[in-house]
Formats: sequence, C-alpha cells, structure tokens
Amino acid sequence: MSYDPSNIFARILLGELPCKKIAEDEHTLAFEDINPQAPVHILVIPKGSYVDWSDFTRNASDVEQSAFTKMIGHVANIAGITDSGYRVISNSGNDGHQEVPHLHMHVLGGAAIGPMVSKR
Ligand code: AMP
Repeated sequence: MSYDPSNIFARILLGELPCKKIAEDEHTLAFEDINPQAPVHILVIPKGSYVDWSDFTRNASDVEQSAFTKMIGHVANIAGITDSGYRVISNSGNDGHQEVPHLHMHVLGGAAIGPMVSKR
C-alpha cells in the first residue's frame, strides 16, 4: 500500500483537522481517539509518512523508531494507567482491519480490556 497524503492523520499533522493532543515530540504525536473503545484510548503516530508497522520498521530511522516506542510508555504514564495495565495494538493492512493508512498505535486502558481478540 502506498502512502496517501490526504489521510485523516496526515491532515491532523498538517493542522488541517483538530485533535485532542496528549503529547508530542519532534518525531511523534499522541492524541485521543475520536471514538474511544475504553476509558483511555490514545493514538500514537509518527510524524513521518509511514503507512503501517511494516513500512515504519523497514524505512524509519532508529531515532524515529526509538521516539515512537518511548512515546507509548510516556502517554501511558500521563494517562495514569502504568500500574493498572493497558493494551497496545496496531492494526495493519486488510487482515488487521486497518482503517486509517498512517501508522498508529492504540493505547487502551482505564478498565479491564477483555480478551485479546474475539474468537471466530
Ligand atoms: P484503525 O482501524 O486501527 O485504522 O483505527 C483508526 C482509528 O482512528 C479509530 O479508532 C478511529 O476512531 C480513529 N479516528 C478516526 N478519525 C479520527 C480523528 N479525526 N481523530 C481521532 N481519532 C480518529
């Protein structure tokens, strides 16, 4: 999948769409999910144009990858869910049911999240 520069998260990064920002650094932005699936539902995205996890791990610099990983722990700390626990998910591609084609991690917590996936 090639990167679509008009995707929703690209437009948030450009300031064309608003977001409820939780944290930001040079390489990464974290904001609240617009349709939260848990009391805490934060999205962490790289500022670079990466479609998904595979694209990011292949093509992002070590500095970008390090910043992204650290931001996940940082926002969990800001949200106060470090001790109670949380889940980090990245949906990738068709089988992963990815809707927005810009890499994002979902950080979910604030209550028991339940089984990892529903059984088929
Ligand atoms: P995914 O299915 O993993 O691609 O998840 C996309 C996520 O983006 C969903 O949880 C949506 O609720 C969320 N989302 C879509 N538009 C926005 C937006 N404008 N601001 C914040 N979150 C959004």
